[in-house]
Amino acid sequence: MRRETILIVDDEKYNINILKELLDKTYDVMVAMNGEQAIKRANVSPPPDLILLDIMMPGMDGFQVLERLRADHATSEVPIIFITAMGNTDDETKGLALGAADYIAKPFSPSVVLARIQTQLRLKSSLVRERHLNQQLVSLSDELIQKNSQLIELNKTLQDLASLDGLTGIPNRRRFDEYLQQEWNRSMRDKIPLALILIDIDFFKPFNDHYGHAAGDECLKKVARVLVASMVRTIDFVARYGGEEFVCVLPETDAAGVHLVAQRLLENVVTLAHPHEQSKVAAHVTISLGGAVVIPSQEDSLQLFLRQADERLYKAKAGGRNRFVGQD
Ligand code: GH3
Ligand code: MG
Ligand code: MG
Repeated sequence: MRRETILIVDDEKYNINILKELLDKTYDVMVAMNGEQAIKRANVSPPPDLILLDIMMPGMDGFQVLERLRADHATSEVPIIFITAMGNTDDETKGLALGAADYIAKPFSPSVVLARIQTQLRLKSSLVRERHLNQQLVSLSDELIQKNSQLIELNKTLQDLASLDGLTGIPNRRRFDEYLQQEWNRSMRDKIPLALILIDIDFFKPFNDHYGHAAGDECLKKVARVLVASMVRTIDFVARYGGEEFVCVLPETDAAGVHLVAQRLLENVVTLAHPHEQSKVAAHVTISLGGAVVIPSQEDSLQLFLRQADERLYKAKAGGRNRFVGQD
């Protein structure tokens, strides 16, 4: 372990010798015989671990030395013990008020001096340790805060990944199930109509067979983009239902409203004009749509609602495709 360093400041050679002899065995001892020297000797790196400071000295006295050491950042925290013959309470008070760690009156008992020095050194090192621990705590907690926000980000990304379709980037079936259930409950509570449109690309198998699977994927992405862009209200929702099927949830929408939206979707996909040589209904990609509207009550079932839209989609297919069927 590193030997601690003590600076003895006293103008009397005799006093210095007594203290030096007392401390030499345990500590590295430095000596200064006046205030100026004391300040110079204290200004080493690292500074002494403790300073024993005489008050009455010619030139700069102990109080002035103390003030100078306290004012300098490099020495401001070195514990200083006044050692003086004055034995005057006012001086003791003044010394302590200026920031002295302790005050020992001469003549002193060696064991008391040693004990007080040890106490101050121990105090100092536990302060240093405490500060170090505090710094560690602060940086640990900074790190935790940072990690936490990374986790929140990651969590959000994971949530997005779990609720978005990998190919088209629009909400997936899982997200659709959640959204439909949520809007179903809200519509039941508020007694307002809820609409659903199932959408299926026409002759998509022949499209794939003719243009290839990669071209099929590109087509799915384009159609998804068109569908999303066709939603006007923020609560309107489009998801990929699976394969070449999509689904719209239109809260607060009645039969007239769902008809309007469906027509818009049909037209916008037609306007996309994505070539489809194998289609039997057009020269480009088209969709068929089946819709349903309900003001849900306890007796209604979500599954029946979905099945109704699916049956109408089938009717749109059977009726010639590239069309919407919204009622039986
Ligand atoms: P219909 O007009 O009656 O809907 O005929 P269709 O050919 O579209 O219907 P069908 O259900 O027989 O075929 C759907 C095809 O969609 C089957 C498959 O080749 C294609 N498909 C489904 N999912 C994907 C996909 O993720 N990527 C690609 N490229 N094709 C897909
Ligand atoms: Mg299909
Ligand atoms: Mg199809």
